[in-house]
Amino acid sequence: MDDLTARLKAEALRLGFNRVGIAPAVSPPGYPNFLRWLDEGREAGMGYLRRNGPAREHPDSILEGVRSVVMVSVVYGSKRPVGEIGPRSGKVARYAWSDDYHRVLWDKLGALLDWLRAEHPEARGRVVVDTAPLLERDFARLAGLGWIGKNTMLIDRHLGSFTFLGALLTDLELVTDRPHETSHCGTCTRCLDACPTGAFDGPNRLDARRCISYWTIEHRGPIPDFEAGQLDGWVFGCDVCQDVCPWNRKAPGGRMPELEPRSEWLEPDLFGWLDEDQETWRARLKGSAASRARRAGLLRNAALVLGARGGVEAVAALARRLDDREEDATVRAAAAWALGRIPGDEAREAIARHRDDEDPVVREAVREAAARSTEDPGGSG
Ligand code: SF4
Ligand code: SF4
Repeated sequence: MDDLTARLKAEALRLGFNRVGIAPAVSPPGYPNFLRWLDEGREAGMGYLRRNGPAREHPDSILEGVRSVVMVSVVYGSKRPVGEIGPRSGKVARYAWSDDYHRVLWDKLGALLDWLRAEHPEARGRVVVDTAPLLERDFARLAGLGWIGKNTMLIDRHLGSFTFLGALLTDLELVTDRPHETSHCGTCTRCLDACPTGAFDGPNRLDARRCISYWTIEHRGPIPDFEAGQLDGWVFGCDVCQDVCPWNRKAPGGRMPELEPRSEWLEPDLFGWLDEDQETWRARLKGSAASRARRAGLLRNAALVLGARGGVEAVAALARRLDDREEDATVRAAAAWALGRIPGDEAREAIARHRDDEDPVVREAVREAAARSTEDPGGSG
């Protein structure tokens, strides 16, 4: 299998992956930690992690008879720095700047599986890109691609952590790589210190209940008051604990043209978002990783970010969302929350119009917003 393994790796690199390594199909060493993390309730509302938790104990839950796990990584880190954003804009995590990586990696790993089958027609295989319960970072470490940093991300000495991971499981016994046993975080704690919401209880201990990425991407429905005020300008995801990591400073730019950023996600116009019709939203989210939050989640986040900023220029667009009875209740409730944080009569009147709104979610948000705007006529800023 030496020769096949070497040629498989060469083919993966030819397809555009930056790195490829092979792990044995074993129970991942991080599985007990994962169970502890679930026991502590740190997965927040991501019930699917709990439901398919047991399946992560061994990759044979995904492919019976699996012997090898081929792990690939590809850099997506556009070198464009996230600078200060304008008052009309919000921040989007880098991984969502391009076309949806799931589709891109899926197609390329599918091509790698086709290649393997052409070489070994009896080989069985399965591609995984967040599409089956696999502890991907753990297998990437076992395959020698890097270590798991204190920010819980896989860090490659040469590529940093802005990488997508994918896996090809096969029943062929390929030659495995040496696991990456050392950590190169040393005494650094930048990621833990920089997190705007204090979501880390310690190295590698991330509490999703306090993480901006969880609230802005995974959570459905209104975001509770405290968390809503802490989004720190992020409308989809959060990159802070990776942006500060010294291992990303010298990381190379991406090499897959399919993962080049789309300009519309770099500095989105949130005022424009609030007024755009469903058709424009459908087109924007087609083939984008940001579609996971759906239009309603993104508009909710946009309203909360604008409200936390407290700028009066957002009032008209927010009031239009609140006034629109056809609009999703989550978006209307977020617009009410935001108006409650913006000073001035216009915002107060927009809230007052909905004191008796027929939607209970909106009514409750309006009640809280009215109470806040009365208590704090200057807005919370
Ligand atoms: S993604 Fe953001 S909020 Fe979540 S842990 Fe990292 S820095 Fe904290
Ligand atoms: S910021 Fe420092 S501690 Fe955090 S992952 Fe990077 S090297 Fe490790």
